[in-house]
Amino acid sequence: MPPPDITVRARYVFPVDAPPLESAAVRIAGDRIVQIESGPAGPGVLDLGNAAILPGFVNAHTHLELSALRAKGFAASSFVDWLTRVIATRSGQTATQITHAVRRGIDASLSSGTTLVGDVSTSGRSWKELSRSPLRAVVFAEMLGLKEQRAAQTADAARQFLEWAGDPADPVLASTDDTIPDFADFDNDNDDNDDDDDFRKLEAIPELPKTKPASPLQRLTPSVSPHAPYSTQSALYDVAARWAVLSGAPLCTHLAETPEELRLLQSHDGPLRGFLHSIGAWHDEWKPAGPRPSDYVTGAESSQAHWLMAHGNYFGSDEIAKLAEPMRSGGPRRSIAFCPRTHAYFGHRPHPYREMLAAGLNVCLGTDSLASTATLSMLDEMRFLHRRDRTLPGATILEMATLAGARALERSETTGSLAPGKFADIAVVRLPDREATDPHELLLDSTGPVIRTMIAGKFVYQRLE
Ligand SMILES: [Zn+2]
Repeated sequence: MPPPDITVRARYVFPVDAPPLESAAVRIAGDRIVQIESGPAGPGVLDLGNAAILPGFVNAHTHLELSALRAKGFAASSFVDWLTRVIATRSGQTATQITHAVRRGIDASLSSGTTLVGDVSTSGRSWKELSRSPLRAVVFAEMLGLKEQRAAQTADAARQFLEWAGDPADPVLASTDDTIPDFADFDNDNDDNDDDDDFRKLEAIPELPKTKPASPLQRLTPSVSPHAPYSTQSALYDVAARWAVLSGAPLCTHLAETPEELRLLQSHDGPLRGFLHSIGAWHDEWKPAGPRPSDYVTGAESSQAHWLMAHGNYFGSDEIAKLAEPMRSGGPRRSIAFCPRTHAYFGHRPHPYREMLAAGLNVCLGTDSLASTATLSMLDEMRFLHRRDRTLPGATILEMATLAGARALERSETTGSLAPGKFADIAVVRLPDREATDPHELLLDSTGPVIRTMIAGKFVYQRLE
């Protein structure tokens, strides 16, 4: 049954692809927006009072299955220390605990106004929970492995996930827990296959399945994520790109995240090498795609896909310029998921988001997981960024948290802004009782909560006030 037609009105409407409107309303028919209109409240209009009606937030980078972790319990002295502790905690979790963590992450997203997420999933289980929820998502099955066997294993698991998730029969009803591919964890590679003899016996990395273009009308889109240069051989980036060119889905990867990653790529040593060795994941014959992180997405094959790059903290200016090149000639999209609070948690150098924006890269916002940030709230993320950078326009921050994220996830045709014809995906935020020259200040320089979340014309969260 389609939801009943409804008009919601508030002190401000922020369409994002147009300037904010005061005393305005959004008219919704079924699951779509019909019109944005200014004017007084009339009969049959739901008036939300001193509030802002916004496009639902897009959390472009998160790991819902890590929602049981707490950043405050992980005050890491270094990235490698943090990684070690996250892996130790995660490997102690049962499948049921992971399922609960995903549910908690979904609830936290909906109650903070998020209507679309880019979720990196190593267990493959987030799809099932997401398909039972109203949340929109692109689910990236993680692929990794410097060693051939490990890379082949995770590519095969990703292949199973794509086949299973792409099944036109209802994948939830048609499957049991047993049929959900279980992605082995990062540290399960602690075997004795380190000598060359074993490598020669191993199978090649499988191709991902043939696929048709993904529809922006789908609520859930399956995709893959070659994890990061320090954990993932470059062949997996090419395998992923060959699949993505057919599906049109974006690919996700963690790139230029730490100085340790730069060092490993440049000189094959440093703390990450010791870490990889300690978990049995180091491969003596490993060859990176190149000496720079951007080399992983600018190769002959890898450059053909739309890439959503998480972090990008340490991209050099020349890399930023090179990454932006295809965008200027209508080529594949290059998006950066900047996670401001996670960035601060690790104490990285200042993030080059302004340089990226100026170069024409699509910079969006993400929270990353609860292992490195306090909440999954995009509003918290936006307000944090606003406090750190008072001169970054509020309209830019809001676009980074909505439309830019929708672009990064290849969903901007149908969501990410309030425009006639798009899905009625909405977040409503309580505003303070004061005036402001720039209405974005009311949103960002305040503490009012999300009071309602709507997806496809249906309220999926309502705060008791
Ligand atoms: Zn991440």
